[in-house]
Amino acid sequence: MNDYDMEKMGSVLIDHGHLPGMDVEDADIVVVNTCCIREKAEQKFYSLMGRLQRVRKKKGLILGVTGCISEQEKENIFERLPFIDFSLGPSNIHRIAEAVENATGDTRTSAFGDDGRSPSLMIRPHNTRKGIKGYITIMKGCNNFCSYCVVPYVRGREESRGSEDVLTEVREMAELGITDVTLLGQNVNSYNNGSSDLSFPGLLAKIDRIPGISRLRFVTSHPKDISQELIECYGTLKTLCESIHLPFQSGSDRILASMNRGYTASEYLQKVEALKKQCSCIAITADCIVGFPGEEESDFDATMKLMETVGFDGIFSFIYSPRKSTAAATLPGRVPPDVARARLSRFQGRQRELTLESNKRMEGKRVEVLVEGQSKNSPDELSGRTRTGKIVNFKGERGMVYKLVEVDIIKGYANSLRGELSKAPGR
Ligand code: SF4
Repeated sequence: MNDYDMEKMGSVLIDHGHLPGMDVEDADIVVVNTCCIREKAEQKFYSLMGRLQRVRKKKGLILGVTGCISEQEKENIFERLPFIDFSLGPSNIHRIAEAVENATGDTRTSAFGDDGRSPSLMIRPHNTRKGIKGYITIMKGCNNFCSYCVVPYVRGREESRGSEDVLTEVREMAELGITDVTLLGQNVNSYNNGSSDLSFPGLLAKIDRIPGISRLRFVTSHPKDISQELIECYGTLKTLCESIHLPFQSGSDRILASMNRGYTASEYLQKVEALKKQCSCIAITADCIVGFPGEEESDFDATMKLMETVGFDGIFSFIYSPRKSTAAATLPGRVPPDVARARLSRFQGRQRELTLESNKRMEGKRVEVLVEGQSKNSPDELSGRTRTGKIVNFKGERGMVYKLVEVDIIKGYANSLRGELSKAPGR
């Protein structure tokens, strides 16, 4: 979503006569779009700003900050970073051109908060990327208030784009040659919740019928909002890829309750079972937090058990990181860092084995691959993705880039698959 926000801001600046620079040394304007979901991202941001301050001193560029840290810090950001020219929260990025213009006249701009109309949600980025993949934000914000998460505070409450607006943009993408579309939202499957407009499954069904779109995905889903209607889409919509990212965060009911996740481990497993029943080859990935306050060894064991039971294709796992303003930041029972690190290492070690097992199960199968470009490993090879999101490297000709091909998988590795071309390009 942050990448997409950068594309939007780039498009607004281009509309106002600016051109993209190749690097920071080249640029007259530098905008740093931020994330504060974890402490590490925040630390990286402040160290980058130290470096940019030195560049600014040397050559006098306009320097602005946007995104979640802007929203979180509000006016305080100017105390910590007195050398920046503007700061815009995520719901105010549509004001980027105005902020740059003010900076040329030595006026500092700051804009935070959300009046519920979010013009920033409606900006359509120019199609500057060459290729076949397109992203589109269909909703923003979150009403869930998981106790560890800063998103509802920095991205505001849920707000969905009208379905006609979304469908028009997807049709335009298809006309530009984009075939692989990903719908974005902090809580994407609660799209239009409580509205009389199209439901999320209804929107998927309409996109499925748009000529030219061959692959449809969405991130990120909340398990409690996975409806039976959505599960059935995996059996009926031909473009809907056989993959889902479904964060579980913990396998312990006690910790899930403390996280305010709104489901139990067995409810999560029921959803997974229903998804697998509908679509036996579905690839399931997830997010998980280790070392949440109060996590005992038995809670962690429950997390390990859930991981084993599902057999995920991949998991993004992290040690709990306390975030300002969140309920969990004041919870007692902090897990000592060395204990949390040991648990994370055990967790990630086992998940690596499970991912390898899943990739090995692909050996001998014929899969559809959307070719994305040259392989990083070898100039003679191409690289693409299966519908389940797995990377496949294989020997092929450059003319196959951006085409759908069929590949026989000959070897499964920890992070990718090796294949052999089995058929000429399909489109
Ligand atoms: S559902 Fe996701 S975005 Fe919303 S509060 Fe929970 S973790 Fe944060």
